Amino acid sequence: MNRVFNFAAGPSMLPAAALEKAAKEMLDYNGTGMSVMEMSHRAKGYIEIFDHTVALLKELMQIPENYEVLLLQGGATGQFAAIPMNLLKTSADYVDSGNFAHGALVEAKKYGNINVVASSKEDNYNHIPVLDKSKFNPNADYFYITTNNTIFGTRYTELPDVGNVPLVADMSSNILSQPYDVSKFGVIYAGAQKNIGPAGVVVVIVRKDLLGNAAPNTPKIFDWAKQVDAGSMINTPSTYPIYMAGLCMEWLKAQGGVEAIYKVNCEKAQLLYDYLDESKMFHGTAQKDSRSIMNVTFNTGDADLDAAFVKYAASKGLTNLKGHRLVGGMRASIYNAMPVEGVKALVDALKAFEMENK
Ligand SMILES: *Cc1c(COP(=O)(O)O)cnc(C)c1O
Repeated sequence: MNRVFNFAAGPSMLPAAALEKAAKEMLDYNGTGMSVMEMSHRAKGYIEIFDHTVALLKELMQIPENYEVLLLQGGATGQFAAIPMNLLKTSADYVDSGNFAHGALVEAKKYGNINVVASSKEDNYNHIPVLDKSKFNPNADYFYITTNNTIFGTRYTELPDVGNVPLVADMSSNILSQPYDVSKFGVIYAGAQKNIGPAGVVVVIVRKDLLGNAAPNTPKIFDWAKQVDAGSMINTPSTYPIYMAGLCMEWLKAQGGVEAIYKVNCEKAQLLYDYLDESKMFHGTAQKDSRSIMNVTFNTGDADLDAAFVKYAASKGLTNLKGHRLVGGMRASIYNAMPVEGVKALVDALKAFEMENK
């Protein structure tokens, strides 16, 4: 068996321990004589798996009692619409910090008045825009941010001060990568396929007092309060991805949890950025004060040389380094499951390539 270091932005690398456990349990889960994939979502054995996944997430993120956790379908993109459907009465504030933030605000505009408080679109989103509090609407129904911008390789290093307005965060690409105080948010949501587990689930963490206000024409599968009542099972949930997410979170817990993995994540990002800062050939594309520790974007300034590096890296077992078309160059997604060795191997490859192509 030859596992590569997979730098894909999502779906992305999963911990080998989780995949191995799933393989072992594939044909006969816990003496049931069937695969988790073959179990009814109403079976006692499956409900235990589901509850275990939710309990692990609550433990790892220290989610307070006054929050509900939903495991839904339709991805983060589905929540772009669900958020205004559930929360928007009059007006909401959005920060336009990247392509997914932009997609979310375009979707929300279908449902009401959206105030874009800041945007870095003109700089191709190479930084988190500066936030001017005088532009915030103190009566907004919510204030929307994307904590980590997957395509552009930027993240907020501090949260905006939004007073009593509920802060809604798309955490798809950095949930579980660093400690967050959940009580600072009204809603946190994340597609699973970056840093939680395989594709097919979106996690929605919502403060209980924000439930029950969905617009009357909200489809019931997008109505958070109805999903809470149904235990996230208005329709058949993504049974197997939820089980896999649980195995990945067991692995994370065994690594020491979010605090511990945050240290590793900082170390990984530092290794890569330190090299990019001293390299004569490769340069980071995000502004330094906005740099993500999950998605590292860089280029040589020469598209042919970029392509040559991507090919060279793949030949060394370092895959999926091609950048998103909106940025070009390279992107190394170094989520929790990417070991330090993978980043060291990438830095070695960058050095060797630079030497050979001087
Ligand atoms: C990947 C991603 C999305 C889209 O997720 P889907 O689950 O594919 O809808 C949205 N926001 C961010 C920040 C992402 O990284």
